[in-house]
Amino acid sequence: MNWFLRGLRRGVKTESKPTSTPPWASLLKVEGNFQGCPTNAIEDGWDSGKCIFCRRCYPSLKPTGDHRMASARANPMFRRSFYLYPLDVGTCGGCNSELKLISSPQYDMTRFGIFFTNSPRHADGVVIMGVLTEGMREVLKETLDAVPSPKVIILLGACAISGGVVGEGVKIEADVIVPGCPPSPNTILDALIKAKGGKGW
Ligand code: SF4
Ligand code: SF4
Repeated sequence: MNWFLRGLRRGVKTESKPTSTPPWASLLKVEGNFQGCPTNAIEDGWDSGKCIFCRRCYPSLKPTGDHRMASARANPMFRRSFYLYPLDVGTCGGCNSELKLISSPQYDMTRFGIFFTNSPRHADGVVIMGVLTEGMREVLKETLDAVPSPKVIILLGACAISGGVVGEGVKIEADVIVPGCPPSPNTILDALIKAKGGKGW
């Protein structure tokens, strides 16, 4: 509420850098042994793409506070502007909510040249969320075919990357992987800025 009142008095306050990442929405450091991870994210070390950040493994795995979990193949062609088409292939709604937040005044993705578009024909990248089933495979193909090349494929959240708690779906080759269940807005922004050729957030 304080933020809201301050915003009314001074104009909109945008975060210049991440200040509010919840510790659990960050990398996990292995410090012991743990059996019983619901997604088998701990085998040889910790697999961020499988982790649903349920905290069952604490204190054997502890959060480091570092939100920069994504891996991204940079494409400097999108340095000036980067238009994204979100595609839900079967989510619980969590990833969608966090993705929407990066357009809020607090995070303001537009200052980094990142925008949403309602048409895959105008998109540079597709943000895929949820577990891909056989039924949605054709929808994904048609969407990706409609995006002009070069295009960036982004997997957002444990469901899209590994199946998360739901179970493995159809595999998708991607340029950007954004771990989390759901990923925090800070992790998402960091990934998208890197994907367009920047240093991250
Ligand atoms: S937080 Fe949960 S899903 Fe992630 S490694 Fe620990 S037990 Fe597994
Ligand atoms: S990754 Fe987590 S938040 Fe995202 S759709 Fe799957 S269950 Fe929901």
